[in-house]
Amino acid sequence: MTLTKEQYKDIAGKMRFNTKAFINGKFVDANDGNTFDTINPLTGKVIATVAHCSDADVDTAVKIARETFESGVWSRCDPEHRKTVLLKLADLLDENVNELAVLESLDTGKTISDCLEEIGVEGPRHIRWYAELIDKTFGKVAPTTEDKLAIIVQEPVGVAGLIVPWNFPLLMAIWKIAPSLAAGCSSIVKPAEDTPLSVLRFAELVIEAGIPNGVLAVLPGFGATTGQAIGRHEDINIISFTGSTQTGGKFLSYAGETNLKAVALELGGKSPFIVLDDADLTDELIDNAVNSAFWNGGQNCSANMRQIVDKSLVEEFTKKVIERTKQYVLGDPLDPNTDIGTMITQKHKERVESFIQSGIDEGAVMVHGGAVDLDGPYVHPTIFTGVTANMKIAKEEIFGPVLGIMEVDGMEEALALASDSEFGLHATVFTNDLDRAIYMGRRIPCGTVSINEFSEGNIATPFGGYKKSGSSLTRDNGTEAMQQYLQDKTIWISRK
Ligand code: NAD
Repeated sequence: MTLTKEQYKDIAGKMRFNTKAFINGKFVDANDGNTFDTINPLTGKVIATVAHCSDADVDTAVKIARETFESGVWSRCDPEHRKTVLLKLADLLDENVNELAVLESLDTGKTISDCLEEIGVEGPRHIRWYAELIDKTFGKVAPTTEDKLAIIVQEPVGVAGLIVPWNFPLLMAIWKIAPSLAAGCSSIVKPAEDTPLSVLRFAELVIEAGIPNGVLAVLPGFGATTGQAIGRHEDINIISFTGSTQTGGKFLSYAGETNLKAVALELGGKSPFIVLDDADLTDELIDNAVNSAFWNGGQNCSANMRQIVDKSLVEEFTKKVIERTKQYVLGDPLDPNTDIGTMITQKHKERVESFIQSGIDEGAVMVHGGAVDLDGPYVHPTIFTGVTANMKIAKEEIFGPVLGIMEVDGMEEALALASDSEFGLHATVFTNDLDRAIYMGRRIPCGTVSINEFSEGNIATPFGGYKKSGSSLTRDNGTEAMQQYLQDKTIWISRK
């Protein structure tokens, strides 16, 4: 049941914070006592002062994670037990959703409605799905002559480093924690420095669910310090990273310069939303177009910011998209009626505004946008027309609410423009023609193509990127995500 703004404010007023690192089932200060502040973007005020983990803390956490892994208490326990414990964790998430959602909203400026959906619906569903997969994932027996048995078993990779961004702090962590723990790995999570609080609070539920000490650690800190120490650690077997393309590249270097750990990358995007000339410009299509761009204030890796529209429809499409966008409410993130909260920081707001200025400078036409009359780092949802492929706002990931409408003449031009990107995370296509849907679905070079709906798929479907949007060998979600954390072993048995 959704509460009122006043009730969410009341929860916020009584909020307590976990501010220490979570190592070996306990909340502890950083080894050197260092801390950093986490800020409420709406007020600009410090919410809490949090432990800043150094190399020494990473070392301690990895040592304990390794010992726990080798002990077999989780990695080799009865799969049925692991499943039961993770199902309990999902139940605990359900029970604590209001507090966690308010905490997430305070730390990010995201709307309470989005936080409730991510933490109260998607989070528990995700954990349950991987819990249920535990006793349904097993190896193979390869064909041999009768005097041999070639058994292929799947074993947990070992210690996993899970590095997550600020735009969906707890959900992105759960996307990685659920399959890695389901696989039997010991895992070390590093939340983004702007948003450490919800993952630290979640760690309490990990203890309550009965996950043994040492199986999961949470190490708050900055990228260049804590993140790099995890990336370079010689005894971590896999990094699963979600964040920017630039930082993803660093993790490949860290691995290459150290122990060649596996690196799974989920990175940025500049995704197209394509409207072919046979599409009907229904309210549903327009809702999808606007939501694909402005959901979470555009701070979304799969945001469909290049809206590629056939010239026969572009005028009407633009008019309708502007009308629908006008209904989006910017406001207090804790108000359930708010559609768009703040940007993550004042600095990020300024970055987004510099992109808007570059669009104007390069000759695109701003048909909707402008200043916001609210305190806090808000950016008005902004729409440009006349956007061309060479403009900065068409090429680079802005990570804010800046939508560019690009006009094309026919399907082939739409396909060429959609494909002309260094990224390849997601695409949406609207068409009434099944042949064209299949053709575009197969030809657009990206990890998810969604036809006649903006969707990232669901928990059962793998999510990840082509090109600079991710590593082609790994995916989040689906059975594929669990495979990141497992490795195959062949046991070859010969009859005497
Ligand atoms: P970021 O790359 O700056 O940070 C991500 C994480 O990496 C954070 O925990 C950060 O502390 C850490 N980090 C930063 N620099 C580091 C370094 N030098 N060494 C080690 N760790 C370092 O990304 P962000 O700004 O937090 O998030 C936004 C980005 O995430 C966008 O590009 C977005 O597209 C991407 N993203 C992708 C997906 C996906 O599934 N493909 C999902 C959400 C977000």
